[in-house]
Amino acid sequence: MQSFLITDPPSLSDATILGGVPGATFIAGGTDVMQLLKNNVIAPRQLIDLDKLNLSNITNDHGELRLGALATMADVAAHPVIRADWPAISQALLLSASPQVRNMGTMGGNLLQRTRCLYFRDNGFACNKRAPGSGCPAIAGDSRDLAIFGTSSHCIATHPSDLPVALMAFNAEVELQAPGGATRRLPLSKLYRLPGTTPHIETNLQPGELITAVILAAQGVSRRSTYLKVRDRTSFAFALVSAAVALDIEDGTIRDARVALGGVGTMPWRAPLVEIALRGQTPNDQVFETAALKIAAGAETTQMNAFKIRLAQRIIVRALQTVSA
Ligand code: SF4
Repeated sequence: MQSFLITDPPSLSDATILGGVPGATFIAGGTDVMQLLKNNVIAPRQLIDLDKLNLSNITNDHGELRLGALATMADVAAHPVIRADWPAISQALLLSASPQVRNMGTMGGNLLQRTRCLYFRDNGFACNKRAPGSGCPAIAGDSRDLAIFGTSSHCIATHPSDLPVALMAFNAEVELQAPGGATRRLPLSKLYRLPGTTPHIETNLQPGELITAVILAAQGVSRRSTYLKVRDRTSFAFALVSAAVALDIEDGTIRDARVALGGVGTMPWRAPLVEIALRGQTPNDQVFETAALKIAAGAETTQMNAFKIRLAQRIIVRALQTVSA
């Protein structure tokens, strides 16, 4: 591991300015950044420690739930409003990592978690994401855990975390602050970039720009929601496939449907064709199975990860059965 400076900025404004200096990297809970440092995947000259900034509040005002970027995964999962009104979000967090990691991991850090592609995490291999232009050994190699949506010939790495999948289903936004103090909001779907020819550029954040909060607008559909995750072992494992699903059912008809998937996309993956197939229908197994088949459109698989299409369909049906019961 290379040596680096650690800086404790006194204010948010200072943090963004310091974070905009080439070679600087933000660190909050450190649950992913420390692993990347130990494995020599990243080699920053300076770490900007966000720990002392006042960004951990969770507030619920004027129909908007605001999760501070430094709110921990454990605190958000246990928050009574999240548990009651956004159960898929609470469940996604509780199915992530371990209790120790959830006590340290933050909202902002979770959204920016790097891929678990084993070639990316091992400096002994080429990897276009870690070393642009060096190649992608995963495409002809071990791709079992990797993506089937949003891939390119340069990278098929899966976005690894659970929380953004649930957030994507509810059209969450992120609040950002740039060096100089300018703020903006971005739909979470616009935070992430598909790999294309530049898989090393993973987000649309500008240099020094910091996520300060996650914003959720109140919506009836979120109350009847769930998060279902299938993985190789029952704890502390990343999703082979996961689904955040929500239904708004009125007078026996599906008025609104939300379906987002994890473990299958190069970013958290919304399934609009499945949602369209559900809206206006009577909730039953036949409708659920017909809608879930729509997920196959646009999938690009390898021999090792083709199983994810059928697995995703089954998980979607199971989650829809759960929320419609
Ligand atoms: Fe690297 Fe992406 Fe290929 Fe994995 S899939 S080796 S992260 S370029």
